[in-house]
Amino acid sequence: MTIFERIESTACGCDSAPGTPALMPVCDAVAAALALAAPVAETETLPLQAALGRYLAASVRARADIPRFDNAAMDGYVLRCADLVDGGLLPVRGECAAGDAPAALPKGGAMRIFTGAPIPQGADTVVRQEDATRIGDRVRIDTPPRAGGSIRKAGETRRQGEVMLPPDLRLAPQDLAICASAGAGTVTVRRKLRAALIVTGDELSPAGEELTGGAIWDANAPMLTAFCDEAGISLVSVVRCPDRLDDLSAALAALAGTVDLILTSGGVSVGDRDHVKPALQALGAEVAVSGVAIKPGKPVTVSRLDGSVILSLPGNPVAAFVTWQVLGRPLVARLAGAEAGPVRRHVRASTALRHKPGRCEYRPARIVGYDGDGIERIACADHVNSADLAALARADGLILIPGDCEQIKADDLLEFLPL
Ligand code: AMP
Ligand code: MG
Repeated sequence: MTIFERIESTACGCDSAPGTPALMPVCDAVAAALALAAPVAETETLPLQAALGRYLAASVRARADIPRFDNAAMDGYVLRCADLVDGGLLPVRGECAAGDAPAALPKGGAMRIFTGAPIPQGADTVVRQEDATRIGDRVRIDTPPRAGGSIRKAGETRRQGEVMLPPDLRLAPQDLAICASAGAGTVTVRRKLRAALIVTGDELSPAGEELTGGAIWDANAPMLTAFCDEAGISLVSVVRCPDRLDDLSAALAALAGTVDLILTSGGVSVGDRDHVKPALQALGAEVAVSGVAIKPGKPVTVSRLDGSVILSLPGNPVAAFVTWQVLGRPLVARLAGAEAGPVRRHVRASTALRHKPGRCEYRPARIVGYDGDGIERIACADHVNSADLAALARADGLILIPGDCEQIKADDLLEFLPL
């Protein structure tokens, strides 16, 4: 048997790396961002078919014992052990199938029974049909049964009132089945998160349009819209904002307080045309994260204004992607009311990788196999071009290269954030 070592969350090393004094370590940035975000409090009650992907606000309990009554675990014959005397031959007196409400077992007889059928009163065992031989209207029991054999007892799986699903769970298809089997036709969930997106960048044109001059196609609006869809967020507004401080301040002021989350794209760096930080400052936003020792995505900023959390992502689409994975996903999970953020695991490097010490780097990686202990091996580029968005297409996740690390050797263990 293979025993995997427990994955401990390690510090990312960027606080001890040279050249990152003003930047916040990634782990601190995640913690500071989460500290700004409170789960939405309002709840609603929905029918199961409308609840996929929603976050439970209250636990779901079994409305009745599961199973609710003693029933057959196998197809066969139901009888009383004590009635089996020499030869094990019994008359077959009737039949009970799933959904029936059978009469009591006739004294000295057996009944044909099918999986899921209630056990008739007076019976104490089910003999599998493989262990019996039917002879006309009688049955011979070939293997002596034990009392209680092949019977699922009422309440043996769960007791009435037992917790079937904990609160804070995001409902997956199997959870809907659990609710239904527990008798819950409706569930109480937190309301959907509401978000708005502000896309900055005078150079941007929607994909598909002809470009002139210095224009480029906007890659972030489709990606960030899709991130919201995937996370079950209602994106109520998408604003394209010119690179002007007053326009951006006005857009932020208009949206703050109306949504749970404002995403901004671009303009968060320190150039003269980067107005996100000055706008946040002018509006008096509470800024919790402003610059992180992360590569790519250093300028990422998290703040709060009028109760709306503002996640300001860099314009470079690769940086926007990475910072969404690292900061956006935990933040959204917290706002939505989930207990845990993204799951991480360890993988093994299949080749040596170089890294310039300083910021923690998140690099797209692909799973290419397993080592002898079943740990995934990953492949990734030795040098990443942060403008190469297409490199993300075949990535299974992002590896984390700690800030103080200079070189990863082949076979080293790495932290991996699956996508
Ligand atoms: P910024 O963060 O606004 O300084 O932008 C950094 C780089 O990303 C610049 O080269 C921008 O042209 C580019 N960029 C900004 N926003 C987008 C976007 N929505 N789609 C594609 N590229 C972008
Ligand atoms: Mg810009």
